Amino acid sequence: MNKSGFIKNCRLCESNDLKKIINFGKTAIGNNLSHNRKLSLKSSTYPLELLRCEKCKHFQLSFEVAPSKLYATNYTYLSGIAPSFVKHFKEYSNWIIKKCKIKKNDLVLDIGSNDGTCLKPFKEKKINVLGIDPAKLPAQIANKNGIKTINNFFNKKNANKIKKTYGEIDFITSHNVLAHIGNIKDVFKNIYYLLKKDGYFCFEVGYFLKVLKNNYFDTIYHEHLDYHHARPITQYLSKLGFSIIHISENKIQGGSIRILCKKDGKNKILKQPKRFLLNEKKSVINNKLFLKNWQKKIFDNIKRLRKIILDDLKNNKKIIGYGAPTKAALLLKLAKLEHGSINYTIEDNSLKINKYIPETDVQIKPFKNIYSNKPNVMIVFAWNFASDIIKKLKKNKIKQLKIIVPLPKVKIINL
Ligand SMILES: [Zn+2]
Repeated sequence: MNKSGFIKNCRLCESNDLKKIINFGKTAIGNNLSHNRKLSLKSSTYPLELLRCEKCKHFQLSFEVAPSKLYATNYTYLSGIAPSFVKHFKEYSNWIIKKCKIKKNDLVLDIGSNDGTCLKPFKEKKINVLGIDPAKLPAQIANKNGIKTINNFFNKKNANKIKKTYGEIDFITSHNVLAHIGNIKDVFKNIYYLLKKDGYFCFEVGYFLKVLKNNYFDTIYHEHLDYHHARPITQYLSKLGFSIIHISENKIQGGSIRILCKKDGKNKILKQPKRFLLNEKKSVINNKLFLKNWQKKIFDNIKRLRKIILDDLKNNKKIIGYGAPTKAALLLKLAKLEHGSINYTIEDNSLKINKYIPETDVQIKPFKNIYSNKPNVMIVFAWNFASDIIKKLKKNKIKQLKIIVPLPKVKIINL
């Protein structure tokens, strides 16, 4: 689909019984940074609302922005740059090889393989690897490093091509991409089609239970259509003919789940995943009252943030931000601080410097600005890195600064 529009049915079970969980109104695409202040303030906005399917309990957005608008900016994220990912995938490959009895010369396919970071440890153990990813730059890097990567989308046509060239696949893996995909059901069907009988499929996605529990609401943005937990997705996979072998949680990207399944046509759920599903069912993800109050809890916290900032402005304090992540635009909009409140924001990624946070007049500046344009107050937009940022400020002897960490709950630290 290359058009924007409302999603009327559950993306997993197709029910149209969808209920609102939280509505942020119309917001800009958070990563669409502009060089021009006026253009930034006039950024296009799209509905950002999270719904829950009453039938299978899956969470999803109510509106899909056309991919051509969403991914207009160059996608330059490389998983190999983060050392934590490299370590994670090394451990992952060891676990998978043992658990799924992967042998030398078996073929492993990674969907959304990025720069090949996940496949590398498999290749080092003489296992054949193949990646597929639509992003050009990461695919080029992977190929240069000897990780064979098809630079294309994973659809029926390309699945057929892969089957023709390589035969059936022994093991298919996918990491942190299943929330971005337009038609998730087709992807699962194509995976099932490509796997050999008794082959395994394992994937990792952000775990929405963590978002709910910790009020990480700013991970909700237009690029993420689905917000997964184990129950709806394993129900769907079972229907396709997979058996569910193992489910676990990990800390990658603020909290993810890993689901391992097997194409054996038996639709079984083993003991361990059964226990996991039962615990999940008892958690807040299935608690109607908790879900009903979630929006209020989040909006109350934002009101508190707004009051603190307005008081500081009244006292002529100079306020800046730290970080310009995708989520900063949403936070500023909800707190109604889009213009005239924040002087500028500091960013370590040089590609963002001098651009503006969408729908705001907040310009992005390098760290050294803090010396020439001294602030009294700082909101940490990249709040998940707050402890690293505070360490950096202390190391650079920044003093007399009030630091506001806006999430999960507004917290003030005085330097
Ligand atoms: Zn559903």
